[in-house]
Amino acid sequence: MRTEVTVTLLRQNRELKRLDIWNWSLPAFAGKLPDGRNYNTCPSAGICAQACYARNGTYLFPNVKARHQENLRFVLDDLPGWKRAMIDELAHKKFIDAWVRIHDSGDFFSRDYLSAWLEVMRVRLRTRFYAYTKEVSVFRELVEPDPPPNFWWVYSYGGTQDASLDPAVDRVADVFPDEESIEAAGWHSQEESDLLAVIGPAPVGIPANNIAHFKAKQAGRRWSRWQAGVDAARAERRARASTAASTPTAVDDQAGAGRRTP
Ligand code: SF4
Repeated sequence: MRTEVTVTLLRQNRELKRLDIWNWSLPAFAGKLPDGRNYNTCPSAGICAQACYARNGTYLFPNVKARHQENLRFVLDDLPGWKRAMIDELAHKKFIDAWVRIHDSGDFFSRDYLSAWLEVMRVRLRTRFYAYTKEVSVFRELVEPDPPPNFWWVYSYGGTQDASLDPAVDRVADVFPDEESIEAAGWHSQEESDLLAVIGPAPVGIPANNIAHFKAKQAGRRWSRWQAGVDAARAERRARASTAASTPTAVDDQAGAGRRTP
């Protein structure tokens, strides 16, 4: 006889329960599934991966990591089945007018996966969905032209697509060293409720988590500035490499000289 196992896809911790938010998680960033497959659930992660709260603490507990990896395995191996299961789960009356945070870790790692979420939202219009994301270009293409009415999102700095964000037009969030620096910049903290990130005043400031080794790496910078510094250094290295490649070397000169002197 086959035993049916009820899979619960959406979870709540104490803080999320207080806000009537449910959460869907993937493992953060890059790793390996138990079957040996490599994954990267945050393809546009930049410096954020060096200070990612979801790569620390309870997220690394074996049972938590295993659950997140199982979520990812379901999505990778059977996206239509996952979509049906998510739609079925959201049929429960507890999700009417509730919020679902898509990813407290991970991101919209593929077009198909993002499209599946958009379909889920369009079926479950009585539930409100929100997300932070660094997948700017795919959102510009697949979400921005015709977003589901029950979906709110905020672009978060610290990724490889930061340069394409414009705080004058886009809703953006940045991680600051602390509350004081958020206020000094004239940004708006979401500390009181995570929902402020998508429905509160913008631009949005997030105080850095109190994790000493991450704070040391952040070194008092905002993530946007940290990422901009990394991008600038990379551009400079590329420019130097391309100048070096187009400058004749001593060996080339000698070879040329040889050809000119029969
Ligand atoms: S995108 Fe989010 S979950 Fe992924 S590495 Fe960056 S901070 Fe972590």
